[in-house]
Amino acid sequence: MTWSMKEVGFMWALWNKGIAVNAWRAKVDNLINQTCPLCGNEEEFTLHKFWECCHAQQAWEYTQGIMCELAYGDKPSWVVALLHWKQCVFVAKNPRQMQCVENIWSLPRGITLKTLWIEWNDLVFNNQRWNVVKIHEVIWDALLDYGRAAWNICMKLIIKTPRAEKKLLKKFDKS
Ligand SMILES: [Zn+2]
Repeated sequence: MTWSMKEVGFMWALWNKGIAVNAWRAKVDNLINQTCPLCGNEEEFTLHKFWECCHAQQAWEYTQGIMCELAYGDKPSWVVALLHWKQCVFVAKNPRQMQCVENIWSLPRGITLKTLWIEWNDLVFNNQRWNVVKIHEVIWDALLDYGRAAWNICMKLIIKTPRAEKKLLKKFDKS
């Protein structure tokens, strides 16, 4: 599994309470409501923000659906609640059914975490509430952007080193 520096930085911040949540912010500022601003139902702790919240669950379900389509060509009925917060928010090994996408799981996982973080910031600081369509669009667009970037890197490598094409195709066949 390879991690980008951005993902490493984000995960470090998550593990070390560097991502502010209202449950902690309310302890130092009485004017801050400790409730989750997205659902308005629960105290906002890290796990709620990135996993338990209904907004987070929608995002994870969508991301898992994409991964299943990539792995199986369809979204199997068992996909809902397949992954646990340990696989999504942290880096626990995926269950057997998702092992085939283990190598690329860190990318959609990172995109989903970042999307949830941006959604939260947009609501809190810009008063912009996202609907589920927007969440899906942001996740999908980010995946496409990473795909284009990876494709461009491959093309530059092939142009620079023609022998790289054979190596890249071999790697692609194994994935
Ligand atoms: Zn919530």
